[in-house]
Amino acid sequence: MGKDDDVVKKGAELLRQGATMLQESCPICGSPLYKLKSGDIVCPIHGKVAIVSNESEAIEESSAPLFVRIEEKILKQLDVLSEDIGKTSSYEDDVKLSMAIGGWLEVIEKLRFLRKESKEKD
Ligand SMILES: [Zn+2]
Repeated sequence: MGKDDDVVKKGAELLRQGATMLQESCPICGSPLYKLKSGDIVCPIHGKVAIVSNESEAIEESSAPLFVRIEEKILKQLDVLSEDIGKTSSYEDDVKLSMAIGGWLEVIEKLRFLRKESKEKD
């Protein structure tokens, strides 16, 4: 089964749990985002995501260089994920959470490397 099937399946599952589909899409993978009854915004692939919620924040973000903006988004995402540390109800959730956090940290590492590289080219 492909990744797309997974997105559809997970999306359907979220809707069944009472989530609503949003206009926004995941900043990382582009999948449609869902709002849970709890108010959390989730991507079927990445779990909880932080999206820009007000206009001033959006303007502020757009003035920063792309890599910085991406990193800021990821840091927000990590902040959201970190709220679940120690609150997971199963070993499986623990593994998923640590994988998600580890994955984001890897992306930050790559971003910082790219920023350093592009600076050196100037
Ligand atoms: Zn995603």
